[in-house]
Amino acid sequence: MTDDRFPPQFRPECGTRKGYQLHTSRNESPCPACSDANNAYTRDRYRATRARPRPVPRCGTDAAAQRHTRLGEPVDPACAEAQRAAARERTARYRARKQNAA
Ligand SMILES: [Zn+2]
Ligand SMILES: [Zn+2]
Repeated sequence: MTDDRFPPQFRPECGTRKGYQLHTSRNESPCPACSDANNAYTRDRYRATRARPRPVPRCGTDAAAQRHTRLGEPVDPACAEAQRAAARERTARYRARKQNAA
């Protein structure tokens, strides 16, 4: 791979993402400080998008019950009931499948 970009010109913005953009917009290869800044920026953005909180399941659903359990929270009656209902449903489905197979 050949790098036919110009060598970096050092600017007051060096070490920032803006400096990185100044390098690339002038077809320069970025200086190490700017590369670092840009890498950090990209990493942070990646983390920020990945760390976006998932929607919290509403109480009274099996998903919410599982969330309570996972977080070590007490399972409230609405969630406990939903979890029982889900378990019942699973069992019913399992039995139905077994009957169909027989
Ligand atoms: Zn720079
Ligand atoms: Zn709940």
